[in-house]
Amino acid sequence: MSIFIYLGEFAFAVMILGLLLFSLFSAVEKEWRAFGRSLFVTLGFLFLNALIWMLPYTIRKIILGVFFLFLVLLFMFFIFSPKPKRRIDTKGKKRKIKVFGVQNFCEFCKKCALNCPSHAIPLGEKREENGSLRWIIDREACYEFWRKCGTDCAKCIYVCPYSKPNNLMHKIIRMANSKSTGVQKLSMKGDDFFYGTHPKEKKSLDWTK
Ligand code: SF4
Ligand code: SF4
Repeated sequence: MSIFIYLGEFAFAVMILGLLLFSLFSAVEKEWRAFGRSLFVTLGFLFLNALIWMLPYTIRKIILGVFFLFLVLLFMFFIFSPKPKRRIDTKGKKRKIKVFGVQNFCEFCKKCALNCPSHAIPLGEKREENGSLRWIIDREACYEFWRKCGTDCAKCIYVCPYSKPNNLMHKIIRMANSKSTGVQKLSMKGDDFFYGTHPKEKKSLDWTK
């Protein structure tokens, strides 16, 4: 059998195994939306693979070879895409902070700001406050919203890709995120796809009505 078929099948196996692991972790965390979507994509890959095996040998060889090449190119793109800026925007003050590239991620994510019901999180650029450049929350708007709904909100924390459970999958993704802007962009899209761009609305507690 051609080497292209082995390589293509190897690439399929890696994808399917990764997705199955993700489904497993999602089920353990009771993240049913992520579980359903990852299982759906896994089945899609299995179906696609079965379809490829129905094609004539030469076409199968070409498709599997191209698929493997595509994954290699994607991998190279991640390796050589710019490293996230690892910095703390302070004005002359020294601070001991673990820097892992999340600020770089925030610059194009904005998921918390887009989901904030009180529009307390800015979508624009950082501004200076107490010697640091940061995205300044409108604390009054946030707190006013809490008072209106009778409890806290924390939607911003819930949707943040960095607040997902600290399981092996997320640890690997965060580690890759700290090394490559390309991975950050892909994992942001992955977070939107698997967990949704907006959290599911939950029923209000009776005592808040
Ligand atoms: S807690 Fe709610 S209202 Fe406050 S900043 Fe976060 S999402 Fe906005
Ligand atoms: S959701 Fe999280 S990663 Fe995205 S912009 Fe907000 S704090 Fe940054």
